Amino acid sequence: MPSILLKTQCPSPGCKGYNSRKIVQWAKADCGHRSKIDTDVDVFCEQGCSWPGSSSSYCNMIKLYWKCSECKAYSKPSPSALAASYMRAAAAMIKAKSYYSNETDLDCLAAIMDKMADLM
Ligand SMILES: [Zn+2]
Ligand SMILES: [Zn+2]
Repeated sequence: MPSILLKTQCPSPGCKGYNSRKIVQWAKADCGHRSKIDTDVDVFCEQGCSWPGSSSSYCNMIKLYWKCSECKAYSKPSPSALAASYMRAAAAMIKAKSYYSNETDLDCLAAIMDKMADLM
């Protein structure tokens, strides 16, 4: 399944990261490896480590707790807050062009945005 690195702004309202609209590369908290997202909006670490308390290395993005370096608390944002933060990040990525340089990545980004619209 196609996947790309997981970069969004922090989806937690009230967080400094959210207000600054800074785009961050997320890492899986327990292993520290970079996170990726596939076109089923499942999040996984690039080394394929499993999630704590699970034998699976995949976790749907709406089931995740999000905590950026500026967050004061862990939070589980609403699906629409998550989708909105991803839309903003995707728009910035497309504008910057340098984030994802090839068409495969752009196709993947488009597929994820399409899937995310179902969550809102
Ligand atoms: Zn890992
Ligand atoms: Zn945050």
